[in-house]
Amino acid sequence: MRRFYEHVRVDKEGLRFYVSCPICGMRQYGSRIPLLCRRVRTLALCETGRARGLSQKRYNHTKAAAVQQLAMHFNQCRYCLRWVCDRCYDADDGEGACRDCSAGAGDVPGGRRAEGG
Ligand SMILES: [Zn+2]
Ligand SMILES: [Zn+2]
Repeated sequence: MRRFYEHVRVDKEGLRFYVSCPICGMRQYGSRIPLLCRRVRTLALCETGRARGLSQKRYNHTKAAAVQQLAMHFNQCRYCLRWVCDRCYDADDGEGACRDCSAGAGDVPGGRRAEGG
């Protein structure tokens, strides 16, 4: 099973972390890349964990925060194990399933309930 952490990517133009939904493709953006890590070369090293000293430290710290923040907007499907956004997640399914999987398992249109905390 892939962990949520591994789905967090870097938007090199916006210089932010993000995760995109595998179903609708929507991107949810998180924390900005730290100033220290914004040079193209440094960023490439940080992404692979090979930068040195403070740059890597800052990068890891910011990424960890982004993971926490972004995880609130994504849900893991118990069937296909993909991480999908709230809109592509069917909370009506007993233990939770993405739209693709719940459609094949007896979907009830209009039966959606208000989400609880
Ligand atoms: Zn989605
Ligand atoms: Zn699924």
